[in-house]
Amino acid sequence: DRSGPAAPQTTIFTVMSALAQRHGAVNLGQGFPDESGPDYVIEAAAAAMREGRNQYPPLAGVPELREAIAAHQRHWYGLDPAVEDEIVVTAGATEAIAAAMLAFVRPGDEVVAMEPFYDSYKASVELAGGTIVPWRLEAPGFRPDLERLGGLVTDRTRMLLVNSPHNPTGTVLDRAELEAIARVAAERDLVVVTDEVYEHLVFEGEHLPLAALPGMWERTVSIGSAGKTFSVTGWKIGWATGPAALIDRVKGVKQYLSFASGTPFQYGIAAALASGPEYYEDYLAGYAERRGLLAAGLAELGFAVYEPQGTYFITTSAAPLGYGDGMAFCLDLPERCGVVAIPNQVFYADPSAPRPEVRFTFCKPRAVLEEGLERLRKGL
Ligand code: PMP
Ligand code: GLN
Repeated sequence: DRSGPAAPQTTIFTVMSALAQRHGAVNLGQGFPDESGPDYVIEAAAAAMREGRNQYPPLAGVPELREAIAAHQRHWYGLDPAVEDEIVVTAGATEAIAAAMLAFVRPGDEVVAMEPFYDSYKASVELAGGTIVPWRLEAPGFRPDLERLGGLVTDRTRMLLVNSPHNPTGTVLDRAELEAIARVAAERDLVVVTDEVYEHLVFEGEHLPLAALPGMWERTVSIGSAGKTFSVTGWKIGWATGPAALIDRVKGVKQYLSFASGTPFQYGIAAALASGPEYYEDYLAGYAERRGLLAAGLAELGFAVYEPQGTYFITTSAAPLGYGDGMAFCLDLPERCGVVAIPNQVFYADPSAPRPEVRFTFCKPRAVLEEGLERLRKGL
């Protein structure tokens, strides 16, 4: 077998977006908005291109973007990463995740991660030769069971992988939950990697970076991305921040993955991160409205709807409609209804076990969401 540990499957996003195209379906699957981010962001990238900023950036990212990331973390969280050696810009959060796994996980190591988990986590852990150990979030609340965490940690555990706001459930960890995670990390001397790509999409509660808790900066690599916050998922500009000792190791791997990428886009995101508070307020308000629209529409159709506290996804259960197998439901849906959704079972350690949960995204214009709901109403 020359395919390697994580290669044989095509990701669910590729499969479902291809089905969406084939059937002209309303794509409420893969999480990308239909509209581009703000004009001043597009302009800043275009200007950088015209000014000839088209060659390799430094490995760590252009200084202007690292400055902007530091300023953003100071403003929102009171964190103060050093521009010189505590920030690395990556090809999306995806590269940051892969580089962090390859940097810290050795063959045989275990990584405890909130399950369901974003699909690249398991693949990246396995590329590093490690094993993912699921810390299950159960419906309907999808809260982590804090009592269970300590018991999942073994001699082989190397890392806790935390995602809040959480894809696909929308759970936003509260302070007590983060403190419990921090306690286990400190007691067992674990590295923590946090995926915070939906930091600006919190409808209930607030986003607290684990790295901001007492004693946590030194052992935490925090991962962010511009894709969601500025509606430019195709630019693939993400970053990792943390103490120099940990970021150095991420850089050590990253230099042989991409080395560096996206110079003009990095300038665009530097401008984006300098947005005033009204940008973030409008962004959140727009999504709050769409969340309400999609949640109400899906509930009306008979889905059990688990309202997300954050992200632009809604996890539902199709069980009340008579479907216990979300994968079969989602594979059938494009042809039957002209709508695409994502079966949550692919986000579990055993992705072959049928589950009734189905994820819909609301990162689409109102009219598209309404059209999707109308098609479901007619076809289901
Ligand atoms: N983490 C999570 C939880 C995500 O949902 C996504 C994108 N859907 C990523 C990471 C990847 O982000 P990027 O596009 O910046 O690589
Ligand atoms: N993060 C996006 C989602 O969860 C998809 C990203 C991808 O296509 N890999 O929908």
